[in-house]
Amino acid sequence: MATIIDGKKIAAEVRAELKEKTEKMVAETKRRPALAVILVGEDPASQVYVRNKAKACEEIGIASEVVTLAADITQEMLEFIIKSYAARVDIDGILVQMPLPKGLDGEKALACIPAEKDVDAFHPENVGHIMRGDYRFLPCTPAGVMELLHRYGISPAGKKCVVIGRSDIVGKPMAMMLLHENGTVEICHSKTPNLAEETRTADILVAAVGRPKFVTADMVKEGAVVIDVGINRDENGKLCGDVDFENVEPKASFITPVPGGVGPMTVAMLMQNTFTAAENNMSTNRG
Ligand code: NAD
Repeated sequence: MATIIDGKKIAAEVRAELKEKTEKMVAETKRRPALAVILVGEDPASQVYVRNKAKACEEIGIASEVVTLAADITQEMLEFIIKSYAARVDIDGILVQMPLPKGLDGEKALACIPAEKDVDAFHPENVGHIMRGDYRFLPCTPAGVMELLHRYGISPAGKKCVVIGRSDIVGKPMAMMLLHENGTVEICHSKTPNLAEETRTADILVAAVGRPKFVTADMVKEGAVVIDVGINRDENGKLCGDVDFENVEPKASFITPVPGGVGPMTVAMLMQNTFTAAENNMSTNRG
């Protein structure tokens, strides 16, 4: 039977630690870290994500400004608004909730966020830092995974790590972070032949595919650590991950559930990045 990795509990611990650090920062500097969250349109999932981010800010003591814009806003106006937040010295971090409604160019919108306020770590400069391992901002979801591994005493060093998925926001930075901690890393994707043969070699298996119950028990080595990044709906509309939890769990040594695994960690890491942005901003602007 596997140890169930409790992401909800660890995320609460991270938030509590950040709350303490934020209170100290406010006492010392008389200034609160501040995050601007830009939401365009009325996508229900995006609304939930934005609400969770604002709630986490409130709990920690980070000031948040949620900017809600109509789905039919022009690209020019959206960019103008992002740039106006970029110019504000009292705003430490900016994020634009993705995906944007049809007709808007997400890449161009993100390019308006300066690297030093890019708390999602999507800016090419920050991606370069991730590649080199000298992180300015942590890529939120992979950093959440690493935090879970650390706090459960699991080291990637010397282990075979297999990541399924090669997206810019999860798969690639995840592989980099495991590599920086001396894992032997393999990235699998939709064009990988004989996927199960590859995944069965993993001591640490990370699934970031976006397909319900995609990782089945026959794809997992006995005793593997299984991390499920996926957020999907099953055939009954119930939230589920990329891993067939029920059948994989008996084979794994550690496993993350969905919900309550990686999900809550992503927001906690975003809060960590906002705190870092505030520290950097204050040291830059206060001499
Ligand atoms: P994506 O669609 O950008 O990437 C999916 C990856 O899976 C691709 O690289 C693709 O090559 C790979 N893939 C698809 N089909 C495959 C197959 N048959 N075999 C092997 N590989 C295959 O998705 P993403 O943004 O990386 O997100 C992945 C999942 O993680 C989604 O369910 C998403 O909702 C979830 N997610 C969760 C969090 C969180 O906070 N927990 C954050 C981001 C994404």
